[in-house]
Amino acid sequence: MTVTTAPDRTIGTAPAGFWTDRLSEADPEVHAAVRGELKRQQDKIELIASENIASRAVLEAAGTVFTNKYAEGYPGKRYYGGCEYADVVENLAIERARKLFGCACANVQPNSGSQMNQAVFLALLEPGDTFMGLDLNSGGHLTHGSPVNMSGKWFKPVSYGVRREDELIDMEEVMAIAKANRPRLIIAGGTAYSRVWDWAAFRRVADEVGAYLMVDMSHISGLVAGGAHPSPFPHAHVVTTTTHKSLRGPRSGVILWDDEALTKPINMAVFPGLQGGPLMHIVAAKAVAFAEALRPEFRDYARRVVENARALAASLEENGLRVVSGGTDNHLMLVDLSARDVTGKDAEKGLDRAWLTTNKNGIPYDSRSPFVTSGIRLGTPAGTTRGFGTAEFAAIGGLIAQVVEGLAKNGTEGDGQIEESVRGRVAELCARFPVYPGM
Ligand SMILES: *Cc1c(COP(=O)(O)O)cnc(C)c1O
Repeated sequence: MTVTTAPDRTIGTAPAGFWTDRLSEADPEVHAAVRGELKRQQDKIELIASENIASRAVLEAAGTVFTNKYAEGYPGKRYYGGCEYADVVENLAIERARKLFGCACANVQPNSGSQMNQAVFLALLEPGDTFMGLDLNSGGHLTHGSPVNMSGKWFKPVSYGVRREDELIDMEEVMAIAKANRPRLIIAGGTAYSRVWDWAAFRRVADEVGAYLMVDMSHISGLVAGGAHPSPFPHAHVVTTTTHKSLRGPRSGVILWDDEALTKPINMAVFPGLQGGPLMHIVAAKAVAFAEALRPEFRDYARRVVENARALAASLEENGLRVVSGGTDNHLMLVDLSARDVTGKDAEKGLDRAWLTTNKNGIPYDSRSPFVTSGIRLGTPAGTTRGFGTAEFAAIGGLIAQVVEGLAKNGTEGDGQIEESVRGRVAELCARFPVYPGM
């Protein structure tokens, strides 16, 4: 947007500065927080597996005048006038999503991952229906049946987990639980499972008991788009994904499917079932992100995310930390700190002091509460986006092990000297691989 004149007077009913002031002038407090957040992203290493760094173009699309527009309904069938450009961006987002994931249909309106999953429940289930999902303690998501979430309050969840011995999903157990409980919907996918999902095996279970198979590929959709994890199509009846994790778009969700018979129930569930006007600025940003993911370079990024995760896991193990299930096939891993008697909570705080951003996470069969935990979850998408390769991730594994060592030795406070020296190494790495340079 170019502003050629900056008249210092009231225009129409708008207060002075309404058309011209930048955020820094209009609201210094919010502006300072935005600058602080930018600097945090630039100066620290982001290892949260569900985060990433969106392109400048995605940020720009998300900050456009589409935020002003009501576009309830779908392209060509809106409840408001003036939707010609809203139709353009929504159709682009739909076509690109279909092409990217190789499916017939897409709804790009869900505001978030939680809402996309709620919409599928609304489309396919009745309150009280039984459904099956990965246990939260094994890496399932809140919306897959947590007792504090609507999915667990208004529906009847039964869960499958990972085996104690090898921390992998046991498909025979999944089949047995499905046969015993006859769920109407089975969810595959999670937030902390580091191994390849066998979608075909899940479909066999769903067919055996007459259930729908929904794949929630939120964490790994960037890998699926880039050919680094098998696609859930044609196995799943419905696929949901957030767009801001490995897929590297704006904070949002989409629903994908092949069978035209599901089109009406799913579209009706999103709007008017659950949502009102779609966030058209975010739909525009999704369209931009999908186009980015369709480019050949994105395949390279997806491959590097996995290579980097393998390098990080190997380095952690070389440095004496146990990685759950012994490694990773995707972008994330869980690190079990129980042998060091360090909690996930203390590790998250200690690593944060050393400018390594992570989250505490329960490990399978964790004896500690979800507020304390025995593990941390690490992911490589954001670091890969900023340009780190296997050498940098191997180094990061060593830095994490040093901070954990300090915590094992000194308890909650950690070792200030180690943390200081790790901050120095983090600063070097961040300077070599800048984020949003010039912003
Ligand atoms: C992140 C995530 C969600 C929810 O996404 P929000 O946008 O945070 O609501 C749902 N399912 C899975 C598997 C996720 O990883």
